[in-house]
Amino acid sequence: MSQTLIKNIHLLVTNDPALGKSELGLIENAGMVIENGKISWVGASESAPTAEKTIDAAGKAVIPGFVDSHNHLIFAKDRATEFSARMKGENYSAGGIATTVAATRKASDDDLLSNASRLVHEGLNSGTTTVEIKSGYGLTVKDESRSLHIAKQLTDETTFLGAHVVPSEYKGRADEYVDLICEQMITQVRPYAKWIDVFCDKGAFTTEQARKILKAGVAAGLKPRLHANQLQQGDGIALGVEVGAASVDHVSHFNSQDIEKLAASKTVATLLPGAEFSTRSIYPDARRLISAGVKVALASDCNPGSSYTTNMPLMIALAVREMFFTPEQALWSATKGGALALQRDDVGHLAVGARADFVILKESSYIHLAYRPGVNLIDEVWQHGKRI
Ligand SMILES: [Zn+2]
Repeated sequence: MSQTLIKNIHLLVTNDPALGKSELGLIENAGMVIENGKISWVGASESAPTAEKTIDAAGKAVIPGFVDSHNHLIFAKDRATEFSARMKGENYSAGGIATTVAATRKASDDDLLSNASRLVHEGLNSGTTTVEIKSGYGLTVKDESRSLHIAKQLTDETTFLGAHVVPSEYKGRADEYVDLICEQMITQVRPYAKWIDVFCDKGAFTTEQARKILKAGVAAGLKPRLHANQLQQGDGIALGVEVGAASVDHVSHFNSQDIEKLAASKTVATLLPGAEFSTRSIYPDARRLISAGVKVALASDCNPGSSYTTNMPLMIALAVREMFFTPEQALWSATKGGALALQRDDVGHLAVGARADFVILKESSYIHLAYRPGVNLIDEVWQHGKRI
């Protein structure tokens, strides 16, 4: 397999502190060699080895591809009307999910796959080279199972979210629905799912129900992650740490005990600024988490209700502007942080041996991702060593 050298990179973000300056492992005037879909060399451009193919980055910046670790892409129809109503003053509640559940149950497999594939490609074109996809709009054994079967065709990072909301046919019988998840759904989705997730919040599932579901998932070989404290302060973060969740997601509300628990654990806090943006909610202050040593990821939370975007550069801009990340912290969280949230060490960085998933920006620095919000700064996207 041929080697490709990318030379004249004004600023290369490796996310490996051993390779360059700061946590981002920055190398100025860098070169990078790709071989067999992986990074085989990084260093100063002038000392780069020769390769069969050479690409001149012409003074642009190169960053790792974004790792978007939280998405709900298996659904039918959008909820533009609900969004419009919310922007006119209605409050967001978890109940809106039921609209998408009804549409998703009626949709064909082909329609669900083509819609999800469209969104994966939309993300890829804006630099997302690793994407996580959840189920959660089927909420029957059959519909959750087919949702994950479809998701598995698009990514290895598939998450069973049968516990998204209690479906209307189980209204007032939430515990019976929890039993259905634990006793039937988990077994059926197991071949297609890597992760298990629960929406543990007001209007969704209680901490006790979430603990039961996560434990049943872990017993079946799924790895836990959790939607926690999006809508109110609760025990979701503590539960995530208790069960060893790879990440607790949203964390729009947290207290000092939550911070201490996260900082002492391996659980990543995944912040989803697209949800605050699209629901006109108050953003959490990421400085409190980061300064305490909590590992933080950023993801787009693409879903038709509360964050209908796949755009990670927008998440970086919002994180910097609204959540008080520095541009460096935001980029790290959108790449290496996402990889940690998915427990992946082959993506989210550009050291030797990493997957050759990277983005050539149109500008000379990653700072422009926050500094020029809404502008398409993606020049080229490479995935598995191939330019897409
Ligand atoms: Zn979500």
